[in-house]
Amino acid sequence: MENIFEKLKNFIPEIKENVSLKSYCTFRIGGSARFLLETGNYEMVIKAISFCNENNIPFYIIGGGSNLLISDKGFDGLVIIYRKKFNEIKISKECFNKIDDDKYEVNIESAMFLSDAVAQVSSLGFTGFEWAAGIPGTVAGAINGNAGAFDGAISDCIIDVKALQVFDKKIEIKIIEKNNCNFSYRSSLFKENNEYIIISAAFAFKKNNTENIKNKIQENIKRRAGKHPKGFSAGSIFKNYEGIIDNKLFKKYPELEKFQERGVVPIGYLVEKCNLKGTRIGDAKISDEHGNFIINLGQAKSDNILKLIVLVKKEVKSRFGIDIREEIKYLG
Ligand SMILES: Cc1cc2nc3c(=O)[nH]c(=O)nc-3n(C[C@H](O)[C@H](O)[C@H](O)COP(=O)(O)OP(=O)(O)OC[C@H]3O[C@@H](n4cnc5c(N)ncnc54)[C@H](O)[C@@H]3O)c2cc1C
Repeated sequence: MENIFEKLKNFIPEIKENVSLKSYCTFRIGGSARFLLETGNYEMVIKAISFCNENNIPFYIIGGGSNLLISDKGFDGLVIIYRKKFNEIKISKECFNKIDDDKYEVNIESAMFLSDAVAQVSSLGFTGFEWAAGIPGTVAGAINGNAGAFDGAISDCIIDVKALQVFDKKIEIKIIEKNNCNFSYRSSLFKENNEYIIISAAFAFKKNNTENIKNKIQENIKRRAGKHPKGFSAGSIFKNYEGIIDNKLFKKYPELEKFQERGVVPIGYLVEKCNLKGTRIGDAKISDEHGNFIINLGQAKSDNILKLIVLVKKEVKSRFGIDIREEIKYLG
């Protein structure tokens, strides 16, 4: 009798079996996927998911793998790496349609790397994407987590999102208006509900002088280089804290009052005050430079990272009385 891999391979010849996921995430951590498909073609994604639905195989979609911690046990199902190579898609001036006096709409495939999309949109003289320069990952991953930096976020420039909705073993293509995408700080409908696979989005940008745009991008890239530690990481592990802090703590930690007034307390500050910077478990280390980054020094296990996450949550709770939540997603 034909085994499930042979059956799958007959259906989609590009499928591979027992593939290490380490090289598909920026943490460089994780076990193997039972099956793996690397594609930038959404019709191929539909085909693969239909097979999974018919054969009760779980599936998971990864973009750039830059906001993800993959278990050491890997994933007993199909992992779809949905991304296009740099420059595989060309956004030209003709792709932009005027929708307002000064606004232009452009459709961007979500499998594109965000930095590629930023470079192409910006080089054509359209402004609104400069904040995203240097953020790793794909456009889909950015929409999923409502990625943002320097007071900008992807939700600021989105008009609507095209996604596959997979439910009850059915797959439907949906256009979801921005108002229904539930965008909030580092969250969205797509992050809350993994029924959706994002395939493209319509964006709105304005015209500006290319030189101004280029300068802003360079400035942002420079700011990032000074802020973000080098090494294998998944960016910020936790979402900055938006809740209320007990004002009795303001005397001991005067900066907290200022953060509270601004509405966001940086996790890096809380970790530093808990004296956790530099804490190491195995080859996983809380960065000396940025308390919200955990670095894989080379051979870290997913379990080492998880233990540091638990430790940070426990110490922050005991010192500041608050529960902090992960920005990263877990697989497996
Ligand atoms: C050094 C560094 C710096 C960073 N700086 C920032 C920053 O400044 N701001 C910021 O917001 N983030 C930052 N990040 C985090 C990360 O880059 C972003 O969250 C990024 O947008 C994630 O995109 P990705 O394609 O890598 O997503 P992945 O990590 O591949 O996936 C994240 C989630 O999105 C889901 N997903 C992926 N593709 C799809 C799809 N097609 N449809 C539906 N769901 C999908 C996955 O299933 C997963 O749940 C940083 C990360 C690193 C390593």
